[in-house]
Amino acid sequence: MNGTDVDFACTQCAKCCHDLRLPLTVGEAIDWLARGGAVQLLCEAIPWFAEPPPENVGAAHKRRRSFAASSGELPVRVDVILAAAFAGPCPNLQLDKRCGIYEERPLVCRIYPAEINPSVAFDSRHKACPPEAWATGSSALLRAGRLVDARTIELVERSRQTDASEVPVKALLCRALGIDRAAISNEGFVVYELDRSVLREALRRAKERLMTRTAPVEGDREDGDWRLVSNRDASLAALAAVGAHGERAGVQPNVPFGYLPLRDSVPLP
Ligand code: SF4
Ligand code: SF4
Repeated sequence: MNGTDVDFACTQCAKCCHDLRLPLTVGEAIDWLARGGAVQLLCEAIPWFAEPPPENVGAAHKRRRSFAASSGELPVRVDVILAAAFAGPCPNLQLDKRCGIYEERPLVCRIYPAEINPSVAFDSRHKACPPEAWATGSSALLRAGRLVDARTIELVERSRQTDASEVPVKALLCRALGIDRAAISNEGFVVYELDRSVLREALRRAKERLMTRTAPVEGDREDGDWRLVSNRDASLAALAAVGAHGERAGVQPNVPFGYLPLRDSVPLP
């Protein structure tokens, strides 16, 4: 087996069901909240000076899952991730290590350990799976770096398409809830923790409003003036230099959000 051929067989150890921020679709988030789980909004903004060339798959992936906005004079694209947050075992994990919502489990749980982001190279060292899960001769996961299982390929594609189709719902949600702060992409996330019932109702309304709209939804319109939060002096100085609204992490009193530096390792879709 070379570096881009990977065999995999799940040992059902359930290590991947602990200590997560688990990305959810809008529908999954509504269901997660209905079951009593906690859902956070992770917000990042990507400075967007010009459209990248189509061969830049990483930028294309970020573009697909984000909406256009601004921060002062700086054009940005804002990516909002709905994430089930839990420390320790997932609230749906049973004592026998089985998933208690197996038939309704989130898309990302069905896809793991494969990658969804096309610009992220697969690396088993970054996965929770034990060494025996990667034993040569079990099922083929990757060949020449490409997924081979038709079901996983279909799920990854569905996840990417759902992310893209739900961008307008997230833009509506941010407007409805007054969410206007994001971390600079690749530095971290601004994490909003809102009242569970408020978030659930806002998600339901945003989804419903989108489905009942008669006019086309403008996924690419400018969506608000955002404040960009950072804990780095150099980044704040760079934001000021281009006329963006920078804000130092941790100085905001009595707000429903916090700052999560990227080094804290968030599993990203
Ligand atoms: S929903 Fe199920 S599969 Fe997903 S993390 Fe929780 S227990 Fe694991
Ligand atoms: S950590 Fe890997 S081997 Fe263990 S249950 Fe999850 S996917 Fe399977």
